[in-house]
Amino acid sequence: MQLYLNQHLKIYNSLSGEKETFTPIVPGHVGMYVCGPTVYSNVHLGNCRTFISFDLVYRYLKHLGFKVRYVRNITDVGHIEDDADEGEDKIAKKARLEKLEPMEIVQQYSVDFHQILELFNNMPPSIEPTATGHIIEQIETIKEIIANGFAYESNGSVYFDVVKFNETHNYGKLSGRNLDDMMANSRELAGQNEKRNPADFALWKRAEAEHIMRWPSPWGDGFPGWHLECTSMSTKYLGNHFDIHGGGMDLKFPHHECEIAQNEAATGHTPVNYWMHANMLTLNGKKMAKSTGNNILPRELFTGNNNVLSKAFSPSVARFFILQAHYRSILDFSDDAIVASEKGYNKLMESFETLSEIQPAASSSIDIEKWKQECYDAMNDDFNSPILIAQLFEAVKYINLLKEGKETLNAADLDVLTKALNAFVFDVLGLKNEKGAEGGGEKLEGVVNMLIEMRKEARANKNFALSDEIRNRLTTLGIELKDTKEGTTFSVK
Ligand code: AMP
Ligand code: ZN
Repeated sequence: MQLYLNQHLKIYNSLSGEKETFTPIVPGHVGMYVCGPTVYSNVHLGNCRTFISFDLVYRYLKHLGFKVRYVRNITDVGHIEDDADEGEDKIAKKARLEKLEPMEIVQQYSVDFHQILELFNNMPPSIEPTATGHIIEQIETIKEIIANGFAYESNGSVYFDVVKFNETHNYGKLSGRNLDDMMANSRELAGQNEKRNPADFALWKRAEAEHIMRWPSPWGDGFPGWHLECTSMSTKYLGNHFDIHGGGMDLKFPHHECEIAQNEAATGHTPVNYWMHANMLTLNGKKMAKSTGNNILPRELFTGNNNVLSKAFSPSVARFFILQAHYRSILDFSDDAIVASEKGYNKLMESFETLSEIQPAASSSIDIEKWKQECYDAMNDDFNSPILIAQLFEAVKYINLLKEGKETLNAADLDVLTKALNAFVFDVLGLKNEKGAEGGGEKLEGVVNMLIEMRKEARANKNFALSDEIRNRLTTLGIELKDTKEGTTFSVK
């Protein structure tokens, strides 16, 4: 693989609020952790946007030649409704409503999640750990935090002591919140429940008798708090100090703020160099969400089966629509917008066919290396995919001018253009040429119809050996001919 590690990549770090030059801890290697889904219902297009945003990051880092260990978890326990400490576990609740085992819910929606992301051509992470598979590690992290004096046991539950932590550390450094404001705005009063302070959060919750998802611990039967799994699993697989941590913008507080606090309380130092947050996909100006019903499911998009859609859209068109916005900008979904994206996508894909027809000239009239560097500059500027796509449309313009003979490229430059366009469109943006597949379908239809004609002619000439051979050879290729009164049709298996 060609290495582009010399490219100067900048990443917007949510922790500093600035774009910073990316310097990995171990040269040539990147450790990246991204919060995965809570598998209690089908992923909506908003969730997919976040996972596609980080797939772009993963793909570009790999393209640059980094060896990336990408860890993305599955939350299958501990995520309470409204992201709270009190209430029902989202998975346990769904299991109760559907009269299924919690692990049946987990399996059903983990499978759905993987299928959908594969349709979007997302690359699977290097490691995909589950929260229930790491209860022992989470108990160990709690023990460390208690030993360091930043957590306390209360009535079989364990809470993180935010006030104590904030005396020596900065609780709020990621989200920009201030602990005094958080406490002033809290509706709970100190001492009214098991917590010393309303801002404290659960590391371990005691399981009531009827609670199914439970594990033994030094504090009695219970289950881990939601924030804890990401601290335990990220450090297990990436070490106490790693390069990139990502997630949706809505996870900044409390989830990521609590993760940082847990890590610092357990190990004494901050875990992550670059915090990345992907912005939200909205529908009618409001965040797409499972809980409000204001969302579109990917399968509805692929079938056109939703009132807001005028037709079906392919996964690559949806991916292209998402990547036409920068990952840190809010993106509003609308039928008009995705129809426009489809036109752009088709234009881009058609240019590959035009490009294949262009003959090299003796000399070049376009500075193609400059264009290629501009593509890198876009991606190096905090993964700016909309600017990259604008550059790709510059290439489409060049291709049309080359076709018309108004510009020229020599063989070496034509090769640079072809390779770079392929790399950015397919490897970095992760698009698939579904237009090509359609075109392939048309070609197949033409060829089979030609064979049907030849078979008809053979039969008319009583050359049954040939007509049978045509049918049998097509059958072995999985193409079935069917003779009807109207003529011969075919189906592909
Ligand atoms: P959840 O399964 O609710 O934990 O969410 C999985 C991921 O999807 C998280 O990183 C969320 O931040 C992200 N997410 C949720 N809603 C949206 C949205 N409307 N747009 C983009 N990302 C979202
Ligand atoms: Zn997380």
